[in-house]
Amino acid sequence: MNIRLCKQCGFILGTKPHLKEVDGVCLACLNASNKKLIDFTQRQEWLTKYICENKTHGKYDCVVAISGGKDSRAIVKRLTSHHGVKNPLLVTVHDEFTSTQAGISNRRSICEHFECDHLLFRCNPEEFRFHTKEDFVKELHPLKWLERRLYEIPIEIARDLGIRLVFFGENSDYEYGSSTELGIFHPLTNDAVKVIFMGAIWPYSIHDSLKIARECGFKDLDDYNEW
Ligand SMILES: [Zn+2]
Repeated sequence: MNIRLCKQCGFILGTKPHLKEVDGVCLACLNASNKKLIDFTQRQEWLTKYICENKTHGKYDCVVAISGGKDSRAIVKRLTSHHGVKNPLLVTVHDEFTSTQAGISNRRSICEHFECDHLLFRCNPEEFRFHTKEDFVKELHPLKWLERRLYEIPIEIARDLGIRLVFFGENSDYEYGSSTELGIFHPLTNDAVKVIFMGAIWPYSIHDSLKIARECGFKDLDDYNEW
């Protein structure tokens, strides 16, 4: 068998579903360099106006989907510091896996740091178990249902509360090389709720996210000796 590696990152080509490639370079690598061609400053200016024009709820400016990781904190920080968001509603979809102490601490402290409300949504554990097992048996993809619900639930909550804007982090189709376009809106965007990738407004950088998150009280596994 002939194993082919991406000429830039060394990833094994032809093994990841939907990962495209051009002349032996994976699309994730090509997309990373193509980001230099995108005018992110213009996108950031657009977002500030868009948020202002789409405030539909008396209390909350938007919903921010929060996992509790460093990227969540960077998103909230940017929205509140750069885009005029005063009161985001943070929404976390809780799963049934064991949490680390760092994860528990981060989930607790994020709304304390930003002084906002945080909604923790726990799916029915029996439903979670049923779908996780079924997706594993049928498709060897135990997290398929959960990954879909992680997007759907914050959007459903925004819709039900009459909040027009929802923010997520990365546009994973672009970052992981299954699409050539760094689209601003998530495919689940609809007439009632506009769903925006912050990774399409600010170019994603692990280093930047971690730096911002640490300044906003983020703890990692080192802080709790959990490696
Ligand atoms: Zn690559």
